[in-house]
Amino acid sequence: DVIASANDLVKVYGEGPTAVRALDGIDVDLVRGELTAVMGPSGSGKSTFMHCLAGLDRPTSGSVVVDGAEVSRWSERRLTHLRRTRVGFVFQSYNLVPTLTALENITLPLDIARRPVDRQHLDLVVRTLGLGDRLDHKPSELSGGQQQRVACARALIARPAVVFADEPTGNLDSASSAEVLGFLRRSVDELGQSVVMVTHDPTSAGFAHRVLFLADGRLVGELRDPTPATVL
Ligand code: ADP
Ligand code: ADP
Repeated sequence: DVIASANDLVKVYGEGPTAVRALDGIDVDLVRGELTAVMGPSGSGKSTFMHCLAGLDRPTSGSVVVDGAEVSRWSERRLTHLRRTRVGFVFQSYNLVPTLTALENITLPLDIARRPVDRQHLDLVVRTLGLGDRLDHKPSELSGGQQQRVACARALIARPAVVFADEPTGNLDSASSAEVLGFLRRSVDELGQSVVMVTHDPTSAGFAHRVLFLADGRLVGELRDPTPATVL
């Protein structure tokens, strides 16, 4: 079951002799209910690949299909709607609202979309989150790893088709990284979420079901059920 696919995906920045071919014909199907990691050297096209999949960036040619809909040719308005309702985002820098508690941050997407809180789903997410009694705390009272787990919970509370995470452990030490990836992996295994993550960190990639390797805008390899040692 495919949740997102790239078909001969090409992204060129600029024109003429200075043009950069950031993506050079990527073909890949991402499987529903998996945690997929995207690795590769700096400049290999990881961010561009994820931005095209998430509807944040438009491919030069080729197509992107997310949850059955070809989003690569959508209007800006439909893309905005897609970003608000069908995908969730996690950034390196958490981006929590400092004046709200952890729990209020988690349910924020539902408030913004004026959708009711599904108590059962919220309870599952909160139980899976492993934040214990800290749900009433403000972000400044939480560790970096706890804040990023809250940001991950916020990204999946509205049950998007896919959660996209861009270097989610880029600011974290290895213990906190493991907590964040542990939560993302449980959200996939126990809640059925689909997650795509860009990472430089082999330990983080070791939590994925599948790792894709990019180099010079091409898909150059992949691993199933990696361990940190095999990713290196
Ligand atoms: P962007 O694609 O957004 O221009 P990069 O992908 O080059 O940025 O890097 C994203 C983040 O990862 C940056 O904060 C950068 O400092 C960090 N980073 C880049 N290369 C490495 C690496 N080899 N190992 C660990 N972190 C890295
Ligand atoms: P990664 O995330 O693996 O570091 P990126 O997707 O950020 O790689 O970049 C891939 C290539 O595209 C790099 O050569 C980068 O310099 C170039 N690039 C990325 N974004 C832009 C942009 N907005 N304008 C021009 N070139 C860009």
